[in-house]
Amino acid sequence: MLNVPSQSFPAPSSQQRVSAGGRSKVPLKQGRSLMDWIRLTKSGKDLTGLKGRLIEVTEEELKKHNKKHDCWICIRGFVYNVTPYMEYHPGGEDELMRAAGSDGTDLFDQVHRWVNYESMLKECLVGRMAVKPAVPKGMLPKSQVTDTLAKEGRSSPSYDWFQTDSLVTIVIYTKQKDINLDSVIVDHQDDSFRAETLIKDYSYIIHIELSHEIEDFSVRVVENVGKIEIVLKKKENTSWKRLGHPLENHNSFIPKKDTGLYYRKCQLISKEDVTHDTKLFCLMLPPSTHFQVPVGQHVYLKLTITGTEIVKPYTPVSDSLLSEFKEPVLLNNKYIYFLIKIYPTGLFTPELDQLQIGDFVSISNPEGNFKISQFQELEDLFLLAAGTGFTPMVKVLNYALTNIPNLRKVKLMFFNKTEDDIIWRSQLEKLAFKDKRFDVEFVLSAPTSEWNGKRGHISPDLLSEFLKRSSDKSEVLICICGPTPFTEQGIRLLHDRNFSEEEIHSFTA
Ligand code: FAD
Ligand code: NAP
Repeated sequence: MLNVPSQSFPAPSSQQRVSAGGRSKVPLKQGRSLMDWIRLTKSGKDLTGLKGRLIEVTEEELKKHNKKHDCWICIRGFVYNVTPYMEYHPGGEDELMRAAGSDGTDLFDQVHRWVNYESMLKECLVGRMAVKPAVPKGMLPKSQVTDTLAKEGRSSPSYDWFQTDSLVTIVIYTKQKDINLDSVIVDHQDDSFRAETLIKDYSYIIHIELSHEIEDFSVRVVENVGKIEIVLKKKENTSWKRLGHPLENHNSFIPKKDTGLYYRKCQLISKEDVTHDTKLFCLMLPPSTHFQVPVGQHVYLKLTITGTEIVKPYTPVSDSLLSEFKEPVLLNNKYIYFLIKIYPTGLFTPELDQLQIGDFVSISNPEGNFKISQFQELEDLFLLAAGTGFTPMVKVLNYALTNIPNLRKVKLMFFNKTEDDIIWRSQLEKLAFKDKRFDVEFVLSAPTSEWNGKRGHISPDLLSEFLKRSSDKSEVLICICGPTPFTEQGIRLLHDRNFSEEEIHSFTA
């Protein structure tokens, strides 16, 4: 609800929609950008009307503030007076009003739990709810979670540890078979050692302050028994009496959506021009992090802009289409690459572009619901991408061409304004030349008169020609990504052509 990125607004019902369906533009009110909001919060103006006091808010009191000119919202037990933020909310006032005078936590989580509202709204903080919910949602005691899982036929993970003179091994018993190296994310930062194991929609968290120093660690997964071993190398060969001190959420198994995003600081290693406005950023993960972003998933980058933490989603790519195509098994854990378009009037990307080599950006754990494992039987893969909506296609394409045994055909239809906007055009053409299963078509909405290729926007005609199956009953997947109205329009057209929900995957936040 708050600080919705431009690509996901306006909401279907929002007053910011110029026209229903089809191509809609969002009018940006003069002086009401997020940057203007940040400036207002720094102005010293009293935004709560309480002259800096924090109060305890009862439910009755909260309910009274349910109008546009007097709107309070509770998120995770804290109450904000969002009245002054109304006009700055990128998702529109109506969207914000859906939670007026009530607890908006669930709505907020549904739309963008990743947004750092504490930072965006800190000057709007009115106080805490007077009565805290008995057990905050998602923080169910382990026994209760375990009961729920047991009903679903699943059981909670557990852990154990043992040591030799030089090593300490933490063993996580996930009790799941489809666990791999992507499933576990380990960070050793300052005094905190944190391992998050992703099991379907849940996270199992080990979070401790280790009792002794370590030099480094490695992670192994025994897939067939679902066992994860994190091997810590002791700094000194002494015997540890205990593993350490439990920290927040230690040994808990909680729904992933309730874990909050965990960030680590990564260093900018290189920045290369790809088109006139798009750059390839290479970031290095800290050596004390074990982390891989699964195909089709995105992460959040976080920067502090004028004292406010701003977070935006980005989809990691491989460093090139061709290198990974040749040597797909060479997974490089250490570096993470992003193709990012710089919007001169944007909030986040100009700041990112200003970073010098050696500067730091925080990267979150991966998010997203794309699961390549579901597509092992795939025969035809169709990719519809517009602008930077190409980014999730990069790893999907690489993965499909190298790992899906029955794959016959991969086609990419890539929509851009002009030839200069096409990301990695020559790499795509080389790939199509090398691998006969792959084909690419460029469609331009604002081409020069010399352009001989396809023109226009996504349309029934373009799709009917493009979406030809290799056989009548072939297993198909169609992936689509781009500006929200492009994606929505594409999905409508695909449904009109009788493709089922299972055959379509749209990338969204
Ligand atoms: P913004 O401040 O959001 O502005 C973008 C443009 O919109 C500017 O031209 C601005 O002037 C205009 N604008 C802003 N607000 C309004 C308004 N209210 N009305 C009208 N116009 C407005 N991008 C990539 O480049 N690479 C990726 O890999 C990538 N992956 C993504 C993955 C996901 C899951 C999602 C949802 C998005 C992804 N994006 C990606 C987009 C990215 O998250 C940002 O939205 C984008 O970088 C713009 O951020 P910004 O803050 O610089 O611009
Ligand atoms: P762009 O250059 O503005 O547009 C790319 C192409 O899409 C252009 O041909 C454009 O035509 C066309 N287009 C735009 N709106 C359309 C619509 N309503 N219907 C049909 N065609 C339309 O794109 P961009 O600036 O790179 O933006 C890419 C978008 O993808 C961003 O919104 C970003 O958030 C999103 N994205 C999402 C993910 C994800 O995983 N969800 C990942 C990466 C990027 P015109 O010339 O007419 O504008």
